[in-house]
Amino acid sequence: MISSVSDSITTSFDLFSDLENNDHEQILFCQDKSSGLKALIAIHNTVLGPGLGGTRMWTYAKEADAVRDVLRLSRGMTYKASISGLNLGGAKAVIIGDPKKDKSEAMMRKFGRFIESLNGKYITAEDVGTTMKDMEYVAMETDHVVGLPEVRGGGGDPSPVTAYGVYMGMKAAAKKAYGSESLEGKSIAIQGVGKVGLHLVEYVHAEGAKIYVTDIFDTGVKVAVEKFGAISVPTEDIFSLDVDIFAPCALGAIINTETLGKLKCNIIAGAANNQLENEQEHGDLCKSNNILYAPDFLINAGGLINVFSEYNGYIREVAMAQTEDIYNTTLNIFDHAEKNNVNTQMAAIQLAEKRVNDILKMQSTY
Ligand code: NAD
Repeated sequence: MISSVSDSITTSFDLFSDLENNDHEQILFCQDKSSGLKALIAIHNTVLGPGLGGTRMWTYAKEADAVRDVLRLSRGMTYKASISGLNLGGAKAVIIGDPKKDKSEAMMRKFGRFIESLNGKYITAEDVGTTMKDMEYVAMETDHVVGLPEVRGGGGDPSPVTAYGVYMGMKAAAKKAYGSESLEGKSIAIQGVGKVGLHLVEYVHAEGAKIYVTDIFDTGVKVAVEKFGAISVPTEDIFSLDVDIFAPCALGAIINTETLGKLKCNIIAGAANNQLENEQEHGDLCKSNNILYAPDFLINAGGLINVFSEYNGYIREVAMAQTEDIYNTTLNIFDHAEKNNVNTQMAAIQLAEKRVNDILKMQSTY
């Protein structure tokens, strides 16, 4: 029986080659028959500190897809923490299942016990398919969980802090592209006015920007229009507007050959994760189209900064001050990209890797 399980994994892809290629430290497979838990915790790199990354619950078509997802996402967390100057490593967890049907208190608490077994090497938080309530169950079994409600000493919803970081990254991009960080009079197209997008609308409205918004649901659009004077446009029109800045705050892989053929903006700066369909190809295409791309994993790091602040006793002002530094880091990345003739996403990755390697060398002697 055991050999048939391992065969089904190795026939899909070579697990250890994947771990080796991405330099992962550890992957933990967790199963519990009675609660139906099937989870994976991937720890990519703990040179800078314990690996922090949310727990995603998703109905993966194949188990191999869950493994690939957790490996990809945990590596991204190493970069995000490193470039943000946090003493945190990269890790992520996935639970295989339908978050609407398969979840239970027992499942989340059992998952918490697996996290506890890692002795603080992995810290979890909520992600797609998990909620603050789930994290409260996890917290019954382990202290290594962040993103708890304010009443429980946590930082609550991280979206306002994420939006503030995106706003800082956008201002840095304006400084680089126009010589001034001011967004007054700049036209900004925001795709997705959900939790982050709507806070971003508020920030850029306060500076006097002209705002266009789109969403597949009306709720956020209505608030943006009525409260902040935004102009609502159909979802398919958001790419071809003649604007200064495009802010993707909805979906990943939204910057691709097709959309770059339509975009007329000078700057892309938004909250969505993994905006570039292909980091090298589409990062290069932004560069050759004279579009300044503010790296997503840096400018949307406010949420991570916010949850990490919980570890030292949460103070919102401290999280906001650290998030403000995204402005300077974004400018450093633009300089590095220019000096080394690489696209801005690759520049951010290089600087994130450099910090990990520098600290690793520093630790080589007692
Ligand atoms: P959200 O679900 O509250 O908002 C996303 C919005 O995008 C929704 O209103 C949705 O209707 C809309 N949308 C979906 N598909 C769309 C489409 N095709 N066209 C237009 N609108 C569409 O999510 P959020 O928390 O605001 O996060 C937004 C993005 O930022 C996500 O990609 C998320 O992964 C990323 N992010 C969020 C945080 C955070 O703190 N919330 C942190 C880091 C990254």
